[in-house]
Amino acid sequence: MCSRCFSITEDDPCDVCDDQRRDGTMICVVAEAKDVFAIERTSAYHGRYHVLGGLISPMWSFLVGPKRAKQMSFVAGSQVSGATSADWGWANYSVPEAELWDNVAALAGQIAKVPLPTLRMKKASINRVAEIQGFRSAMSMGAETDALLHFSPEVIELHELIKSKGLKGAIAEFNGSEAS
Ligand SMILES: [Zn+2]
Repeated sequence: MCSRCFSITEDDPCDVCDDQRRDGTMICVVAEAKDVFAIERTSAYHGRYHVLGGLISPMWSFLVGPKRAKQMSFVAGSQVSGATSADWGWANYSVPEAELWDNVAALAGQIAKVPLPTLRMKKASINRVAEIQGFRSAMSMGAETDALLHFSPEVIELHELIKSKGLKGAIAEFNGSEAS
């Protein structure tokens, strides 16, 4: 992991942070390291990055409600099964892996029967509801909170732990420690 931008890399700092030609006045805050790679492939951005390592709870609130969002966010290394995800409303369905493509193809086939202009309108109106509910500002707030947290001593310490023990090792050590 790059100790400057928190992207995934073998060298520290990573190629982007090490490149003196990059525009240091621009920083692109992204959720995951894969977002950096996707943006880099476009060759359209020449600034620097800050990788959050996932978006925390604000967005989940819309999908699973604030109580479950807090539980997932407050307990380090939280995981739920596919079945629980569907049960909570985070996902629409949970299907065995072997049946995944057939299920997706069947659903896509159903959706494809609806004329494209109608689909566009329906999608826009549902997205509009999410906007009215504050989805967009919750996303911005989540990115801001996460960016600020990444510069707190506790999170910097956690990053050091992840670097030395790996993510699973760090979570195990964190969860095994005394509450402070
Ligand atoms: Zn970097």
